[in-house]
Amino acid sequence: MALRFYNSLSQQLEPFSPQDGKTVRMYCCGPTVYHYAHIGNLRTFTFQDILRRWLRASGFALDNVMNITDVEDKIIRAAMAQGKTLREYTAEYEEAFLEDMATLRLERPERVVRATEHIGEMVDLIQQLGAKGFTYETDGSTYYRISKFPEYGKLSHNDFGGMIAGARVDVDEYEKDDARDFVLWKQKKEGEPSWDTPIGDGRPGWHIECSAMAMKYLGTTLDIHAGGIDLQFPHHENEIAQSEAVTGQPFARFWLHAEHLIVEGQKMSKSLGNFYTLRDLLALGYAPETVRYLLASVPYRNKLNFTMDGVKAAATAIDRLRNFELRLKSEKFAAAGHAAAEERAVAATARFRETMDDDLNTAGALGVVFEFLRDTNSAMDAGQFGAENVATAQAFLGLFDSVFDVLRPTVTAGGLSDEAIEALIAERVAAKKARNFGRADEVRKELEAQGIVLEDTKDGTRWKRK
Ligand code: AMP
Ligand code: ZN
Repeated sequence: MALRFYNSLSQQLEPFSPQDGKTVRMYCCGPTVYHYAHIGNLRTFTFQDILRRWLRASGFALDNVMNITDVEDKIIRAAMAQGKTLREYTAEYEEAFLEDMATLRLERPERVVRATEHIGEMVDLIQQLGAKGFTYETDGSTYYRISKFPEYGKLSHNDFGGMIAGARVDVDEYEKDDARDFVLWKQKKEGEPSWDTPIGDGRPGWHIECSAMAMKYLGTTLDIHAGGIDLQFPHHENEIAQSEAVTGQPFARFWLHAEHLIVEGQKMSKSLGNFYTLRDLLALGYAPETVRYLLASVPYRNKLNFTMDGVKAAATAIDRLRNFELRLKSEKFAAAGHAAAEERAVAATARFRETMDDDLNTAGALGVVFEFLRDTNSAMDAGQFGAENVATAQAFLGLFDSVFDVLRPTVTAGGLSDEAIEALIAERVAAKKARNFGRADEVRKELEAQGIVLEDTKDGTRWKRK
């Protein structure tokens, strides 16, 4: 079965391929840079990364745009409270976000674009909407008239038939039962940042930004539009209304929405003390790849219940994977090939692909990987795995890691992480066991160069930092 995604628009699984058969034109709603990203946000961005990587593993090229929302109600309030310009205020959080992405090994989309650098395109789009009769002005602000767009509600599958025509909403975020004419351009308020444009001195609403930037870079019809589930309404509904009113074309062929992350069964909130940023988790001693594994391990359409037990289980899973990788690399297998071992890797590869093709079923794909590990370890123990079987097993592990990307230990600024050191020590032990003394010595020297001293005792190898 071919690659398929659950499309929120049709509420069905649909086979996916890009319009031109080659390059996936994809828009992902990016962060609002008014604070550090929390692990819920990062769950959604990890989903977007897994999606990117699986599209690539499926043979497609990518043209992926992610916006940075750097003008919006909350940002303006916070910047004004601190007496800062928008840019002064957002620069720190934008940088922190890109750093968090890199730490979590989230690939940088082909284009990361700031809202404040596309005001001209937004004004242009609002003018086109105006020319077609989709807007009206009140008190210097411009609103979208949703009664002019009969398909309003088709993404969130809401019937807005009974709504009051002409009722307006000025805020960027609002609830489902509050479907109203939303603001496209807000008149300047005293002290607020603004742009003096042909449609007035003011600033854009949040929703117009994504329509303008998506269509500028990716054309009238995107292959995929992705974001967190909370963006389905009103944000994405409004994006459709804005874009399709102007172009008359479908705005996006596939809409993919990631479910929320909750913590220990509860909504994350500062008052509950369960609100985590990536930095908080790293400070607790967890490696970035452990967090990445956990965030990726639950299929994106399921809620992810983040627990400390879950983080520990993720660390153990990574250990098992690394030990297996190490065994493949350093054990001396008999110079032979076993057909069953070869078939096991081929079958695991096919099943891994089928499972990921099924709307990115990451949990199922990990199941395939661990079954392969268990069976291959048994085959190795039983002498049913030879040197000629190593390459196919490594290729399967390589396919897994091209998506999950957790095998390489993170080297922290202060040198190797504890986990990296332990992985290297395990490699040295395995090399010695395989009588590969050259490699064992190399590892000791590598560790020494990083300021780590080893002490071999009867209970194993101890280490300390110099
Ligand atoms: P924001 O920075 O608030 O614009 O959010 C960035 C992304 O994180 C959006 O795609 C949101 O839908 C998503 N998001 C917000 N809260 C959560 C959560 N608890 N779990 C998963 N994703 C979330
Ligand atoms: Zn957006």
